[in-house]
Formats: sequence, structure tokens, C-alpha cells
Amino acid sequence: MKKRMLSLFIALITVSQFTACGLFSCKESGCDDEVYEDGYCKYHYYINAGSDILKDIIN
Ligand SMILES: [Zn+2]
Repeated sequence: MKKRMLSLFIALITVSQFTACGLFSCKESGCDDEVYEDGYCKYHYYINAGSDILKDIIN
């Protein structure tokens, strides 16, 4: 019984760590990469920055 409680406790810690980790992942849906800038990962940050630059050029 005690062992079961301990494994449940460990499971809870693992879940909460996973959730906390998710707060610092990329804003782009379906992307779990580490945040680089503005809530986006390096890849999506440059994609967004790149599209802003393109918009500036077009306008
Ligand atoms: Zn991303």
C-alpha cells in the first residue's frame, strides 16, 4: 500500500514537471521545442521574424 502511494506521488511529480516544462515550450501549436525568443523556438521565431521582414518589403 505504501509502495503504491509512493509511485503515485512520483507520477504526480513527473506530470507536474512535464506541465511546467510545457509552459516554456514554443507557442506554435504542435511544437514542443524550447523557447528561444518571444515564446517561440529558434525555428519558429525566425519564421515569424522572416515573415515580418517580408511584409515590410512588400508594403
Ligand atoms: Zn516552434
